[in-house]
Amino acid sequence: MILDIVTYPDPRLKQVSQSVGVITDEIRELAANMLETMYAAPGVGLAAPQVGKNIRMLVMDESAQEEKKHPRVLVNPVLTFLGEEVVSEQEGCLSVPMNYRADVVRKSMVHLNALNIDGSVIDEDLEGFGAIIVQHEYDHLDGILFIDKISRLRRSLYDSKVKKWLRRKNAV
Ligand code: ZN
Repeated sequence: MILDIVTYPDPRLKQVSQSVGVITDEIRELAANMLETMYAAPGVGLAAPQVGKNIRMLVMDESAQEEKKHPRVLVNPVLTFLGEEVVSEQEGCLSVPMNYRADVVRKSMVHLNALNIDGSVIDEDLEGFGAIIVQHEYDHLDGILFIDKISRLRRSLYDSKVKKWLRRKNAV
């Protein structure tokens, strides 16, 4: 089932999400729906708060645009930031309207601890595009959007565009 994606400035995107206690059938169904929603969007990652569930779970697939898919579900992820600072060019987000994109400084490598949807332990290093995606989605679990990481000037320009866009949208 494709879920509705919560968009900025919805206050639910600013909440710090709660850890998942037990991986229930409901959680497994949510993960499957999140993957379906991510592929349909289309996107390469989606965090639970983006579909209105403030729990620490995210899905991602760095090969989402390719024929062979590699879906991943991360429950209660914990990142350790490693590597050097890199510029994630023209980052975007399914929850940030108007297909807005900007460069964001991230780390080239992270160490990831998490649970799989089957409860097995994930303990690995991620580099490259995978590392960028997981940092972006992980931020969502702490109520942070990539537009929180751009300059104040860019942010205020974007906010005024969004306000105009919302006014137009609500007038229809
Ligand atoms: Zn996002």
